[in-house]
Amino acid sequence: MVAIDHSLGKTFLITGGAGFIGSHLADALVARGYTVLAIDNLSTGSIDNIAHLLSNPLFHFARASITDETVLDRLASQADVIVHLAAAVGVQLIVERPVHTIETNIMGAEAVLKAALRYGCRTLIASTSEVYGKGIKVPFAEDDDVLLGATSRNRWAYAASKMVDEFLGLAYQHEYGLEVVPFRLFNTVGPRQTGQYGMVVPRFVRQALRGEPITVYGDGTQSRCFCDVRDAVAAIVGLALHPEAPGQLYNIGNPEEVSVRELAERVKALTGSASPIVHVPYSEAYGPGFEDMQRRVPDTSRLQDLLGWQPTRTLNEILAAVLAFEQGRMLELSGPQPTKTLAARAVGRIR
Ligand code: UDP
Repeated sequence: MVAIDHSLGKTFLITGGAGFIGSHLADALVARGYTVLAIDNLSTGSIDNIAHLLSNPLFHFARASITDETVLDRLASQADVIVHLAAAVGVQLIVERPVHTIETNIMGAEAVLKAALRYGCRTLIASTSEVYGKGIKVPFAEDDDVLLGATSRNRWAYAASKMVDEFLGLAYQHEYGLEVVPFRLFNTVGPRQTGQYGMVVPRFVRQALRGEPITVYGDGTQSRCFCDVRDAVAAIVGLALHPEAPGQLYNIGNPEEVSVRELAERVKALTGSASPIVHVPYSEAYGPGFEDMQRRVPDTSRLQDLLGWQPTRTLNEILAAVLAFEQGRMLELSGPQPTKTLAARAVGRIR
């Protein structure tokens, strides 16, 4: 069970609060009776993700960038805990806009930490399993060495920028005594995730639903571990409330591993789609010289020891939830549909 520190206040500031993970975190916090202030510039986040919260008196939304010092200062002054999720994310975006990635991630974290320090807010900083880079150890633990690619490869700019965020956060704790909790998210999936910036699960599901080719990059033997966003959010809430969480880094992820080829096959079977599974060279998908990670498995023992946290949803359950969401979105866009949807059939199939 998660130990709750009742000496902490009840107002959370979520940067990136209209994003995929931020909106699910807002849902979880509001459901527990906490006040949530969300800031988002809607660059990759969407008002649709939080539309259902806008009339809730516990939820307050500011459409602004975290580099807007006045807005950030006002929100931080009212917050007890800040969860910093606003970032440039998604491999495609990072490869295409490296300057934006580096600046957003480093300057954003700096602005948030400075504001947090002024008001003594416990601060959680989202980082990424990308930081483990090309390491081949399985599973990855927080204190492992990291092996990043050359600076001529844009992909690694994301990992490097997030490493700086981790260093900076931990330095604020060590030097200034601010409570800081950096956490590395492994592949996190679920409803509301946009497939626009490369994320494989929503992309495959949409491709299957539209009858388009399911695009496996490379030979598909590379694997990933996918964690349901609601499980990841439960871990973040636990870290935000636990008195002993600050000052350490935590992995958040589900150790269930699947190859990308098998993922494509599962999505195809689950949707009953006639889409062909095609292999696309990395150079075509991301440009020349792209480096992928072959495996990325989390060691979550530190998180488990602190919170007793365990992922609760399997990959098939996650895929069914994403499918139901994408199906709903397509129904909204296309008007009246037959009553028995692909998603309804799929949920029956995986039980
Ligand atoms: N991928 C793929 N087809 C796609 C999108 C991604 O085969 O249409 C692969 C990608 O090359 C990687 C894995 O799926 O090996 C996970 O990609 P994602 O961008 O979701 O996350 P990453 O783990 O790379 O950050």
